[in-house]
Amino acid sequence: MGTQSHIAGYPRMGPKRELKFALESFWDGKSSAEDLQKVSADLRSSIWKQMSDAGTKYIPSNTFTYYDHVLDTTAMLGAVPPRYGWNGGEIGFDVFFSMARGNASVPAMEMTKWFDTNYHFIVPELGPEVNFSYSSHKAINEYKEAKALGVDTVPVLVGPVSYLLLSKPAKGVEKTFSLLSLLDKILPVYKEVISELKAAGASWIQLDEPTLVMDLDSHKLKAFTEAYSELESTLSGLNVLVETYFADIPAEAFKTLTSLKGVTAYGLDLVRGTKTLDLVKAEFPKGKYLFAGVVDGRNIWANDLSSSLSTLESLESTDKLVVSTSCSLLHTAVDLVNETKLDDEIKSWLAFAAQKVVEVNALAKALAGKKDELQQFFSANAAAQASRKSSPRVNNEAVQKAAAGLKGSEHRRATNVSARLDAQQKKLNLPILPTTTIGSFPQTVELRRVRREYKAKKISEEEYIKAIKEEIKKVVELQEELDIDVLVHGEPERNDMVEYFGEQLSGFAFTVNGWVQSYGSRCVKPPIIYGDVSRPKPMTVYWSSAAQSMTSRPMKGMLTGPVTILNWSFVRNDQPRFETCYQIALAIKDEVEDLEKAGINVIQIDEAALREGLPLRKSEQAFYLEWAVHSFRITNIGVQDTTQIHTHMCYSNFNDIIHSIIDMDADVITIENSRSDEKLLSVFREGVKYGAGIGPGVYDIHSPRIPSTEEIADRINKMLAVLEKNILWVNPDCGLKTRKYPEVKPALQAMVAAAKALRTQL
Ligand code: GLN
Ligand code: ZN
Repeated sequence: MGTQSHIAGYPRMGPKRELKFALESFWDGKSSAEDLQKVSADLRSSIWKQMSDAGTKYIPSNTFTYYDHVLDTTAMLGAVPPRYGWNGGEIGFDVFFSMARGNASVPAMEMTKWFDTNYHFIVPELGPEVNFSYSSHKAINEYKEAKALGVDTVPVLVGPVSYLLLSKPAKGVEKTFSLLSLLDKILPVYKEVISELKAAGASWIQLDEPTLVMDLDSHKLKAFTEAYSELESTLSGLNVLVETYFADIPAEAFKTLTSLKGVTAYGLDLVRGTKTLDLVKAEFPKGKYLFAGVVDGRNIWANDLSSSLSTLESLESTDKLVVSTSCSLLHTAVDLVNETKLDDEIKSWLAFAAQKVVEVNALAKALAGKKDELQQFFSANAAAQASRKSSPRVNNEAVQKAAAGLKGSEHRRATNVSARLDAQQKKLNLPILPTTTIGSFPQTVELRRVRREYKAKKISEEEYIKAIKEEIKKVVELQEELDIDVLVHGEPERNDMVEYFGEQLSGFAFTVNGWVQSYGSRCVKPPIIYGDVSRPKPMTVYWSSAAQSMTSRPMKGMLTGPVTILNWSFVRNDQPRFETCYQIALAIKDEVEDLEKAGINVIQIDEAALREGLPLRKSEQAFYLEWAVHSFRITNIGVQDTTQIHTHMCYSNFNDIIHSIIDMDADVITIENSRSDEKLLSVFREGVKYGAGIGPGVYDIHSPRIPSTEEIADRINKMLAVLEKNILWVNPDCGLKTRKYPEVKPALQAMVAAAKALRTQL
C-alpha cells in the first residue's frame, strides 16, 4: 500500500481568478447562471484532475463554493434567516447570494474572519425557531460530479460542532440562547447528508472541526463527544477524518478528538502545531489514521522536503500515516506557473497550491520507499533550500544586527504623553475638537489611469509627478476650503497601503497572480517578504514635503506601520515573525525621522491590522502583543517631543487589547467607531486616564450615505459625555479612498460644521 497522500482543500478562484470574473459578471446580469456553473465545473474538474495526476489518494470534493463554505453549510441545513423570504425547497442562487451579499431590500448577513486568516465567512444566525431541513445537495452533487469524471473523492463538510461554535445567536435571543443546544436539531440533517454520500459510494468523509484548536472549556469539548456518539451509527462503514488546523491542538482537545466515536482518522496541523507532534508521539490510538499536515497551507514557501521527511519518519510508529497539508490550501496562492515576473531564483524558493499538491505526493512516495524515482525533484528542492539560506538577497548582516539589538529592551519615547502633547500644542496651536481625516481621498478613474500608465512606462516620470502633484494640490485646497485643521496629502500615489511600501523596501517580492480569496469574489495579493528588510531611500518624504509646501496648516505624514505590513504579507518562515517585524520597524523609523527633518510635524503610522495578527490561543497572545506594540514604538522613538505621532486602527473591539493599545504610546489614536458606540466606552475611559488624543470616527465611510451636521454633533456630544473635551479629535472612521467626491465633500462639510458648532458651546 505504501504511504498515502491527502489534500485538505483547494483554492476556488482559479489560477487567474476565473471564478471571480464569472461571479461578478453573473451578478451584473452580464452572463447567465449556466455560464457561471460552466466556469465553476471546469475549475473543479481541472483541480480534481491535477490532484489525481499527481497521485493524490484522498482528493477533497465540496471545497469549491460560489461564495463561502460556511454559507454552504447554512444552506445545507436550511438555516436561512427569515428576512430572506425563503419558502423551503432546494436553495438556489437567489437566496444564496442574497444571504451572502444582500439584495435590494435586505442587507447581507454578517461576515467575520475565519480564525486568524484573512478569509471571511458568513456567520450563521441561529435562533430557537430555525427549522433545520436538508436544503442544499451540493456535497452529494459534487461527489457524483467527480465520480462521473473518474475521481473518487473525499467529501468535505464543516463539522457540526464547529458550525455551531462559529455561529451567532439570532437577533433578540443574544443573551439567552445556547447555540450548542441546537446540536440535536442539526445532527439529523448531517445524518441525511452522510447517508446519501455513503449510498452514492463514498468510502471516506472529512469533517472539518478546526475549533478544536481553540481554548475550549470542558462543556464545549463535551459537545464534540456527544455529537460524534450521536453520529456513530451513521458513520459506521465509512472512514471518517476529523480535520483540525491553524494551531497546536491543546492536550485536552487532543484527548477528546482521539476518543470520538465513529472517527477513524485525525488531521493535524504540524506546521503551526509543533507541540502537537509531541502529543502524537506520546500517544496515538492504535489502528487509526494520522493525516500529518506537514505542507503549509498558509504560506507560499517551498517545503523543506528533507526536514518534513524526518518529521514523517519520526511518526512511522503510528500504523496508518497519510501525508497531508497543514490546512486547506485556500489560504495560499494558486499556481506558480503563472508568475512571469519573478526571477528563477525566487521562484525556486516558492510553492503555491498546485506545487504543494506535488510536494505532498512526493513526500508520500519517498516515505513509501520510492524516493529514488524522484531523485531530481528532491535534489532540486535541497538546492533551493540551500540557496535560500545563503543568498545575499536574503541576508543583510547590518539589518540583522540592528534588529537583534532591539530584542529584550524596552524602547519608548522619553517624555510622557501629556507633556508631549503640551509641547506639540505650542507648535501646532490647534483648536479644541481638532478636525482631520485618516489619509486617503477618493481615487478617481483618472488617477488610477495615471498610476497604471506610469507603471507601464506609457507616461514619463515628469508627467507622472506633475499629475500626482496636481491631485495633491486639489486635495489640499479642498481641505483648506473645508477648514480642516490637520491636513493630509490624500495618498494619490498609492494603490495599496502595504504594496506601496513593500515596493520601495528591499526584501519584498511581488506576484502577478498570487491572489488569495478574502471573501466572496474579493481577493488580495499579499507581497512576499523573502529577505532582510531595509529602506534604500525615503519613500514618502517627497510627496509629503510637496504637500506641506502648499499650505501653512500642519500636513500629516502618512505611513503604514510595521505590524500591518507584516500581517498583510506572506512572511518568511526561516526566522520568527517578530524578527521580520523589527526589521520593518527600523525601516519605518528611518522614514519617520526623514519626515521630521523635512519639517513634517504630525506623522500618522497606520496599524490597521494590529489586531488581526492576534494568535488564536490566549497563551500566545501576550507575547505577540508585546513585540507588535514594541515594533510600533520603535518607529517613533527617535522623534522630538514636538512631533506628534498619530496611529489609526480599523476596528473598535479593543476591549481585550486596550492595554496594548495604550502601550503603543501614540500621541493621538484614531479608530473606527461608527458601528459600535457602546463597546468603546471602556476604551474611552482608559483613554482619559492615559491622556492621549482620541479620534473615534464620527461617521461611517463604508456607506455612501451622507451624514447631517446634527447627527455628527450628536455623536460628538455622546463622546464628550465620557471623554474630556481636550483630548477628543473629530475625524471620519477610515480613509476616503473608496468614496466619491460628491459624497466626501458634504460629509466633511457636516463634520467640520459640527465640530465648530460644539466648540462655541464648550
Ligand atoms: N491611511 C489609510 C487610508 O486612509 C488608512 C487605511 C486603513 O486604515 N485601512 O486609506
Ligand atoms: Zn481604517
